[in-house]
Amino acid sequence: MKTNNSEGCALCNATWGEYWREIDGENMLFCCNICADIFQEMVRKVKENTGWEKIDYVNLQGNYSKGRNCTATNGDRKYSYYFRTYSDGKFITFQER
Ligand SMILES: [Zn+2]
Repeated sequence: MKTNNSEGCALCNATWGEYWREIDGENMLFCCNICADIFQEMVRKVKENTGWEKIDYVNLQGNYSKGRNCTATNGDRKYSYYFRTYSDGKFITFQER
């Protein structure tokens, strides 16, 4: 799975940290365990809502304070959503858009 954050952390693009976690069988780079927790939960929610078995790509726009508008892609299919979390990584909101 790829995201539009190609410089660093798959969630926030920060380049200061190095924390790896396996997501869907792929080793992915994050800046910290909280970003990895958020990403993992986001993937779980997308798959639950769409019924998809995999996600090829996620485009994430926004930031921690505003929340993030995202589009996940699986082949030709797209799923748009918005989410926001607390600083500890727990979800405040997750909505289909
Ligand atoms: Zn991060």
